[in-house]
Amino acid sequence: MAGRGHPRARVLRTGAGFVARLVIVSNRVAVPEEGGKAVAAGGLAVAVKEAFTAYEGLWFGWSGNIADDPSEEPTLIDRGRVQYAVVDLSPQDHREYYAGFANRALWPIMHYRLGLGAFSRSDYAGYCRVNRIFARQLAKLIEPDDIIWVHDYHLLPLASELRGLGIANPIGYFHHIPWPAADVFNSLPASGDLLRAIADYDLIGLQTDPDVQNLHRNLCDTLRAIPLGGGSLMVDGRRTRIRSFPIGIDVAGFREAAERAGSNKVVRDTIAGLRTRKLLIGVDRLDYSKGVPERMEAVNRFFASNPDQRGNVVYIQITPKSRSEVPEYEQLSREVNETVGEINGSLGEPAWTPIQYVTKAYPRTVLAGLYRAARVGLVTPMRDGMNLVAKEYVVAQSEEDPGVLVLSKFAGAARQLPEAILVNPYDHFEVAEAIRTALYMPRGERLERWRPMAERMTREDVDWWARNFLSELENFRTVEREPPTAAAAAE
Ligand code: UDP
Repeated sequence: MAGRGHPRARVLRTGAGFVARLVIVSNRVAVPEEGGKAVAAGGLAVAVKEAFTAYEGLWFGWSGNIADDPSEEPTLIDRGRVQYAVVDLSPQDHREYYAGFANRALWPIMHYRLGLGAFSRSDYAGYCRVNRIFARQLAKLIEPDDIIWVHDYHLLPLASELRGLGIANPIGYFHHIPWPAADVFNSLPASGDLLRAIADYDLIGLQTDPDVQNLHRNLCDTLRAIPLGGGSLMVDGRRTRIRSFPIGIDVAGFREAAERAGSNKVVRDTIAGLRTRKLLIGVDRLDYSKGVPERMEAVNRFFASNPDQRGNVVYIQITPKSRSEVPEYEQLSREVNETVGEINGSLGEPAWTPIQYVTKAYPRTVLAGLYRAARVGLVTPMRDGMNLVAKEYVVAQSEEDPGVLVLSKFAGAARQLPEAILVNPYDHFEVAEAIRTALYMPRGERLERWRPMAERMTREDVDWWARNFLSELENFRTVEREPPTAAAAAE
């Protein structure tokens, strides 16, 4: 299985001893431009990029391109310490694997939205086929010492396919989204197969302890897995381990961006446009899990019950479109547009627009500055694996005069940010009341709530997350390594 015709990445040595080459697999791969910075779109891309700051390796996955006749071999691109191996998808693969099973069946089910789940056998067959193709292509690049880290729900069966091809390396999986209760997950027709497949990973990382309990119980109840203690399980004769690893953010980078954001024109113009008005901010991909229309209704409710605040508060909602090829997202886009139009039409004045709704995506430099300028961060998903925006909002605040985070109790982040005002996003009245409390909160209480959250975010950042996962995955290595030579150690 040795890499043929392409250079093997250098094995890093750390104080803790040898670290093997890290192979990361994710649905999408963000290949940086030559000599440029990585394209860091979503939370996953940022996290993976962060893992590679400490390790050299290979990143394998979909290029983002759709080709009528995709090549059977991945395209290899070298960018310094990381090699990228990307594959195109055929239109059918894209439709069935990505838009179909991953985003119309798994995504809604994992987010407890049974009513939105659209299962089809052909989509599921496409999902399995693409996982098989990925495994075949990846297997040719795997070397015996590699450790393999697979990301997210598009690739649940990948380890199982790799094992079928004889790959015995440690394979870890991190699930970035929620893992639902057994009754919800098992409503998916392919659930049994997927549970069996996921047990082929050595280590399964989930965002929170309740996610861990959900999967653990399901494996025991449905597959009669035998608990071995410490999160380990024996499933069909194979040992796997399930643990929570809450994903963090690049705290240092974000803090620095927030401190420097004052020089950014978009941030400066936005702050100038506010005049003395207080800012509420929401930043979410357009997705029904994020609760954007529900949040707008809560803001509407807030203005209805606090008429003195009309004209004094502005709510900016930044919502880049996503997955437009999936019908449920088109429908959501229309719903949000209508909601914004109705609220602004009925409450607004010529000199005051209560909701400023923007569908453009902004870079971290802009977001960090807007978070810092906002008295209230509104993060109210109906369900979210983690939610990085909540963490970014906390980290971007000034330590003299921090704002207040209003956070859904159904976001994974709520477990690490209990000092936020925690709300039930299904209750518009409760969210409206939380907005009021946040706006009137005295500085002393804001500081008291913010400090422990900021400290925790700093401790539990993205580097902490990646290190924890990888050091645990390293334990599954079966190959004994030799100590580094003096020359290698000096490298
Ligand atoms: N984001 C961004 N530009 C935007 C909107 C969002 O860079 O215009 C980033 C945001 O800063 C965060 C990520 O996208 O890092 C969203 O991650 P989150 O966990 O909140 O939600 P996801 O989209 O992964 O479900």
